[in-house]
Amino acid sequence: MMLPGVRARGWVAAAKAALRRHRADGEGEHRRPAARGQRAALYVHWPYCEKRCSYCNFNKYIPRGVEEAAVRSCLVTEAQTLLRISGVRRVESVFFGGGTPSLASPRTVGAVLEAVAQVAHLPADTEVTLEANPTSSPGSRLAEFGTAGVNRLSIGLQSLDDAELRLLGRTHSACDALRTLAEARRLFPGRVSVDLMLGLPAQRVGPWLGQLQELLRHCDDHVSLYQLTLERGTALFAQVQQGALPAPDPELAAEMYHKGRVTLQEAGFRQYEVSNFARNGALSTHNWQYWQCAQYLGVGPGAHGRFLPQGARGHSREARIQTLEPDNWMKEVKLFGHGTRKRVPLGELELLEEVLAMGLRTDVGLTHQHWQQFEAQLSLWDVFGTSKEVQELQEQGFLLLDHRGLRCSWDGLAVLDSLLLTLLPRLQEAWQLKCSSPVPGR
Ligand code: SF4
Repeated sequence: MMLPGVRARGWVAAAKAALRRHRADGEGEHRRPAARGQRAALYVHWPYCEKRCSYCNFNKYIPRGVEEAAVRSCLVTEAQTLLRISGVRRVESVFFGGGTPSLASPRTVGAVLEAVAQVAHLPADTEVTLEANPTSSPGSRLAEFGTAGVNRLSIGLQSLDDAELRLLGRTHSACDALRTLAEARRLFPGRVSVDLMLGLPAQRVGPWLGQLQELLRHCDDHVSLYQLTLERGTALFAQVQQGALPAPDPELAAEMYHKGRVTLQEAGFRQYEVSNFARNGALSTHNWQYWQCAQYLGVGPGAHGRFLPQGARGHSREARIQTLEPDNWMKEVKLFGHGTRKRVPLGELELLEEVLAMGLRTDVGLTHQHWQQFEAQLSLWDVFGTSKEVQELQEQGFLLLDHRGLRCSWDGLAVLDSLLLTLLPRLQEAWQLKCSSPVPGR
């Protein structure tokens, strides 16, 4: 989607130039639709933050200063290297996450997009999302990100209560969050997502629902609800351990989640995934690809990817993890063109387990056609159709297996983790049977 009032973007020009070059070379590659193995989503990790949030155990660093030109050059190099190694010809979406990528300069974002467009097809309407923190995102800066090619924002709002924001160690106030949200909506209408957390220590259901109601008066067409996870090694974990704060109450969190999803549904949002809600079709294309187990490349310190390198044989896909620490990652990128620290081949069963667990996170679930793209011999009926336990889950109203495929009901989506405790062993049994049987699928 082109943004109103935004000048022609650098990467759009780069993409057109690349297309002309390929045509002049007679390759004509971009005229043919890319095969599934030649398409991927791209995640770009910006590892730096202003301050450590009290609950955060992500791969982030609080630097005294960032040599941005050097980081930019390494992101560009690594993106191009991974595109070459993977043989990906078409990038379906780009997501700048972190860390706090809104602290990066728009120039860095534009440089990565241009580099991608030089070596792969990046259609002009590709979804390009940037995670934005309210305090590092004044309107003028958001507009510059738009000019650089960003066309969707995901705002880490987290709460509309100043005391909660202080507890979380966020650098913004509720007022900052609403101001940023208004600016973002003005610049990226219909393309702004907000995150809201639930299940904080001492948080109560009524006031939290009040926050959600207030958010509904201000938000755009996408909302994500995340339950706080107390992670070992964080300041919040230590405070709870020492008794300075009460432990979050899981039953209250479940009640917030339940009432939250009802509230969002009444406001016209579709719960299209366990934590994600959209109206007017504003689903996140990028995240949808994760849930569909599409290939993705991860660029930047600690980024994860999943793709099949060109020429690899004997397994269906690799999990790939880049070096965590930014300075070491940069050294490796300068030496080798990429900072991949770990490559883990995924077996066929492992990949199927991911397809099942990720696909069931969505309201559509797994269609038969989708499943067959990963496993042609063993159908969903073969795996789950004769299982008594699966039958019981259907009778209890948590699961549906029919001509469309396998999916969670509204109630089932809220307890997916417990459903997987039944479904994954069933898949493993069916797989063993298939592997030991001379006739596939029996
Ligand atoms: S801004 Fe995000 S990545 Fe950075 S410390 Fe806070 S939660 Fe973690």
